[in-house]
Amino acid sequence: MSEGRWAIIVHGGAKDIPPERWQIHRDGCLVALAAGQAILEAGGSALDAVEASVRALEDDPTFNAGYGSVLNAKGEVECDAAIMDGRTLDVGGVAAVKTLRHPISVATAMLPERPVLLVGDGAECFAREIDAELCDPRDLIVDHPEADDPGCDTVGCVALDIHGDIVAGASTGGLKGARAGRVGDSPLPGCGLYADNATGGVSLSGEGESLIRVTLASRLMRALESLPPGPAIETALAALARVGGEAGLIVIDAEGRIDWGHNSAQFAVAHASSNRPPQAFVSRAEDTAKDAE
Ligand code: ASP
Repeated sequence: MSEGRWAIIVHGGAKDIPPERWQIHRDGCLVALAAGQAILEAGGSALDAVEASVRALEDDPTFNAGYGSVLNAKGEVECDAAIMDGRTLDVGGVAAVKTLRHPISVATAMLPERPVLLVGDGAECFAREIDAELCDPRDLIVDHPEADDPGCDTVGCVALDIHGDIVAGASTGGLKGARAGRVGDSPLPGCGLYADNATGGVSLSGEGESLIRVTLASRLMRALESLPPGPAIETALAALARVGGEAGLIVIDAEGRIDWGHNSAQFAVAHASSNRPPQAFVSRAEDTAKDAE
């Protein structure tokens, strides 16, 4: 159905963003979008596009992932990331890692492995085995402007390539001040992300403890079986109301339709497709093209 079309959407986290920081968030999302878009336009894979876009977001200290991650209660950075391939349903994830420069790339290297998720030392040992880029944990720490303290957010990307493959990825520094060893929804399929070529793909941001309790990604995917992306997102957000908490969702369905939604004050997003130019927003209300595809 989507053959020949490509689409990509990235996000920089569901949270309060002060107005003076809106453009910085939009610009950061556009830079990350361009990295993935270039791959899709050249006929490359959704897998490569998602990894490239999430790496760009991990490089940008505006966002709470990779470089710029928040500190936990012990004053340390602990990152989680995952990626899911909707063609094979392969999933790769890492959690509570401290020395990975690009957690999303180690998650991607996990895709052909039998385990779905490696945590802590096990994940870092795997990263060394594959010669992943390592860093001193202190090198990931950034002095955030007080006005833009990323107490809660994550980055993510969903892409559809011209071959019809849909991939979702997520990467996060978790929640500021969280207990050491705490892992949220981001590396858990069905909670922080999911992708299935037959239906679509989703990546989320929000309070992991709430998202996990209602397996929000899985609810979105179920709704997407019978609804277009917009109403499916509404259905998922309504399910979250039972436990409360903020969330933002980015979605591409099997037909290549892009949509997104959030119940947080802001949610920085950029998207583009083979028939829509790149655009960035900090709230869904700004995006008037509503399901133009
Ligand atoms: N979902 C992430 C977590 O709970 C944080 C966020 O997206 O705000 O770790």
